Amino acid sequence: MELIRSKLITSPHAFPTRAGGVSLSPFASLNTALTVGDEPSAVAKNLERLSAEFRATPSQLVTVHQVHGTTVLEATAAGQGVLGEADAVFTRHGGLLVGVKTADCLPILIEDPKTGQVAAVHAGWRGVLGEIVLRAIERLVEHGADASQLHVALGPAIQACCFEVDGELPARFAAVFGEGVVRPQAGKPKVHLDLSWAVGRSLARAGVPESHVDVLPHCTRCDARFFSYRREDGRTGRQLSLIQCVRETSL
Ligand SMILES: [Zn+2]
Repeated sequence: MELIRSKLITSPHAFPTRAGGVSLSPFASLNTALTVGDEPSAVAKNLERLSAEFRATPSQLVTVHQVHGTTVLEATAAGQGVLGEADAVFTRHGGLLVGVKTADCLPILIEDPKTGQVAAVHAGWRGVLGEIVLRAIERLVEHGADASQLHVALGPAIQACCFEVDGELPARFAAVFGEGVVRPQAGKPKVHLDLSWAVGRSLARAGVPESHVDVLPHCTRCDARFFSYRREDGRTGRQLSLIQCVRETSL
C-alpha cells in the first residue's frame, strides 16, 4: 500500500494510490467503490486493509453517496456506512474515519486543531464551481471551528496539465474565481482549468490562511499510480481519501 500524506495535517489521514489492494484489472488493485462493477468481496477486503492502516475496522469508516452536489453530512456513529447523497462528510466523533472516493476529482481533507473536527470533501468541477469547500467549512464553524485555524490538504487529482475543457465552462469558472483559473494552451483552441487553484481562492474567501493549505502536486491522469477516469475512459476504480477524528470525547 502506498499512502500519500500531507505534512500540514496532524490527524491520521491518507490519500491512497491504487496499490496494495486485491481487486483485479481494470480495478487493480485498491478499488474502494462498489458502484463501478468490481467484485463486492474484493472491495470489502480493500476497505478492511485501508481501515487497518488506521488501527480501525470498516465499521468506523463513514462515507457518502457522491452526487456532484454541495450537500455536507455529519457522521455521528460507527456503523453508519454510507450516509446518503452528499459530497462532503465531517465528524466530531472520536475514532471515526470519514472519506471521499475519487478518480480525477479533487479529494480535500480538513482538520480543525481547535475542536478536533475533521472533514472529507469530494470536488469535481461542479463541486469546485459550487464552492462545496465553503459549505463544509461553514458546518465546522457552526460547531466551534475558527476558519483561520483550519488545516486543509488538496489531494491527488486531475491537475491543470491535463484538465482540458471547452464550451461555457472556462467563462463560468472565470466569473467565480477570476481569469487566473483558466490556462490557455499555446496554439490550441481548448483551454485547461486549474481546480486546485480555484479551491485555493474559495479557501482564501473563507479566511483560511494560504500557509494552512497544502496542494499536493500529483496529477491522477499523468501518474499511473492513481485511478484516473479520463485516462481509463471511465472504466476504473476509485481511491478513498480518509481522515480520522481523534477527539477524546465522543458525542
Ligand atoms: Zn496531468
